Amino acid sequence: LMTDTILEIKNLKKSYGKNEVLKDISLSVKKGEVISIIGSSGSGKSTFLRSINLLESPSGGEILYHGDNVLEKGYDLTTYRERLGMVFQSFNLFENLNVLENAIVAQTTVLKRDRKEAESIAKANLEKVGMGEQYWKAKPKQLSGGQKQRVAIASAIASERPVILFDEPTSGLDPVSRDELLQILSEYIEDGEHSVLFSTHITGDLERAADYITYISYGELFFTGSKDEFVDMFRIVKGGMDELSADLQAKAVGVRTFPTGFEALVKTEDIGSFTALDIEPATIDEIVVFTSKKGEDYE
Ligand code: ADP
Ligand code: MG
Repeated sequence: LMTDTILEIKNLKKSYGKNEVLKDISLSVKKGEVISIIGSSGSGKSTFLRSINLLESPSGGEILYHGDNVLEKGYDLTTYRERLGMVFQSFNLFENLNVLENAIVAQTTVLKRDRKEAESIAKANLEKVGMGEQYWKAKPKQLSGGQKQRVAIASAIASERPVILFDEPTSGLDPVSRDELLQILSEYIEDGEHSVLFSTHITGDLERAADYITYISYGELFFTGSKDEFVDMFRIVKGGMDELSADLQAKAVGVRTFPTGFEALVKTEDIGSFTALDIEPATIDEIVVFTSKKGEDYE
């Protein structure tokens, strides 16, 4: 249904001088979806999220919000920006406000919630991210990076924006906190009215939270679609070194060799020629490592 599409990005481009950072990135966001933006460092994830929020002005393409192109002259950008929450990689807290006030401010200014209601919602969300009462009076500078991240997330969620863009929300968090955070993102979209876009270079996050993946590889759109489709595009072929034929080497997207043999990532459509070998499903991790020139960026 068209009405379920909140945001549609069409052929988005962004250049800094001669550096074409984003080349024709397209993506559509429906209500109730968690979409993960993946790609190695420098591939353009932050630039993409910042362009969607118009913190950077796109060099080309369209951004449709409920069908209207927000890049057209005369579009009400204030309302658009208010509908999109953004949690940056460097934390976007008000340094002069304490933790509780940080979680209240967007609710009273953007949602026009009354102070009392905003306060109780802020408290509930801070508790949810593990920032209980003992932290409410603290100023951001008294918190660790992970704690600031939690407050930023609680604030974004409390303000109930239709779409929240999170830039690497899990980086710098320990595995338990990461899991808790991903759980919170999943809960946020459960009512079918909210959507989340988050970037990550940790592929384990995808298994946990994302149904849809947009993979940006060096500024180009490598894939956008469901996680299942993504995984189903490839297979892993394994064998001894004597089984690594020229045909396989030519068709493989990537090959890794070990003392005991090789592993190759092959497009599912090309697998027919190699059925005599050991064929296994590919993991997201394997696909990203084999298709990215800087596989070592991935954990
Ligand atoms: P990622 O978030 O995937 O690590 P970024 O979007 O931060 O990637 O960066 C993508 C590319 O854009 C990099 O080559 C980076 O140097 C360049 N870039 C990002 N922001 C700017 C800017 N403000 N001015 C010039 N180049 C930039
Ligand atoms: Mg980034």
